[in-house]
Amino acid sequence: MEKKIPYKIYLEEDELPKMWYNVRADMKNKPAPLLNPGTLKPMTAEELAGVFCDELIQQELDDDTAYIPIPEEIINFYKMYRPSPLVRAYCLEEKLQTPAKIYYKFEGNNTSGSHKLNSAIAQAYYAKKQGLKGVTTETGAGQWGTALSMACAYLGLDCKVYMVKVSYEQKPFRREVMRTYGATVTPSPSDTTEVGRRILAEHPGTTGSLGCAISEAVEAETKLDGYKYVLGSVLNQVLLHQTVIGLETKAALEKYNIKPDMIIGCAGGGSNLGGLVSPFIGEMLRGENQYQIIAVEPASCPSLTRGKFAYDFCDTGKVCPLAKMYTLGSNFIPSANHAGGLRYHGMSPILSQLYHDGYMEARSVEQTAVFEAATQFARVEGILPAPESSHAIRVAIDEAIKCRETGEEKTIVFGLTGTGYFDMVAYGKYNDKEMNDYIPTDEELEKSFSTLPEVNL
Ligand SMILES: *Cc1c(COP(=O)(O)O)cnc(C)c1O
Repeated sequence: MEKKIPYKIYLEEDELPKMWYNVRADMKNKPAPLLNPGTLKPMTAEELAGVFCDELIQQELDDDTAYIPIPEEIINFYKMYRPSPLVRAYCLEEKLQTPAKIYYKFEGNNTSGSHKLNSAIAQAYYAKKQGLKGVTTETGAGQWGTALSMACAYLGLDCKVYMVKVSYEQKPFRREVMRTYGATVTPSPSDTTEVGRRILAEHPGTTGSLGCAISEAVEAETKLDGYKYVLGSVLNQVLLHQTVIGLETKAALEKYNIKPDMIIGCAGGGSNLGGLVSPFIGEMLRGENQYQIIAVEPASCPSLTRGKFAYDFCDTGKVCPLAKMYTLGSNFIPSANHAGGLRYHGMSPILSQLYHDGYMEARSVEQTAVFEAATQFARVEGILPAPESSHAIRVAIDEAIKCRETGEEKTIVFGLTGTGYFDMVAYGKYNDKEMNDYIPTDEELEKSFSTLPEVNL
């Protein structure tokens, strides 16, 4: 007999995953290695040690171990806000009059307001274990910086955040949350680093980008004793930590014998989507199951749908290793759209490879359509979603409407990565009908592609 499915499926604390799942172990085509920007040879652990913590480097380079134990201390921290609920969107289904069954995994149930805390605590933990004083990082919209500030406060580490200038100005409260947790926040580009000064000279008046902020945070780390640099997305290790999302989702679905047809997530650097879908793609890779996986990105920053699969710099200042990924070019500065967390020129090498190999599809959506979906969702489901998350809502709603038209009872799962309380300037623009959609032209993209580095392996 079919069990009645509750509005919220909560796992017990002792059902929290004890291990992260490393999807690379099941991939036939492994993601391409990071390259040293000077020699264009694969980065060795020794070279990476200049920037990253030792244990995180091991995780970054490990293409073979399928399950990596989560240290007890991290599990204890996770218990403050996990397991997170898997919600059956009964009210949205009713509103849309769709036969589709819609579920969302809600990651906004912590002060940082997003899934980023899942990796922040892991990275801070390994930094602490290595005896470091602190960490440096960048933040775009501010969610990653907030998450890292919380994790560092908990472990007694110092935290220096370079925040993309446009967000620093648009989101003063986000900045104050970070400072409340003890972090130092600098708007980027700034004159506190060489690369910041160079970018300011080349682009006077620039409102910054994640790529610039990364360069500054890396430079700051190399000049400080006892500090390492940490990154909130894109890297293999970050996807690994985020698999708690997918593992919990899978466990919750299995409790009620639910098999999803479609799994949808927004994609900026790819960490939440990678974390959500890894366990499911693992089944696909092992030939056990089939799912439709959809990455959703902003039309203003379309790395999967219009980018090139090539080696590129991860940062504007070209100080970081090169990654092979879908990219718009490291010089691409996306228009100041309101989904700050999705404004990155590249995509996780793991997701890029999976997309290239056909395990995933991608769609791009425009900003006003995203806020329309966000508003519709908020009014029936109650949660005020982050603009980033609302990209996934948009496509989930579109797919549910298709089901209404065809009569198909598809089961749709999407990742609701966070809440939008700090995005009210954006919601205000939408409410006042002052929001516009900006889509880069082919010429703009070509100009940016022309700066891709030549790499012949
Ligand atoms: C950062 C962020 C994202 C995008 O980052 P990914 O690494 O692609 O997951 C999505 N949603 C929210 C709420 C975020 O803060």
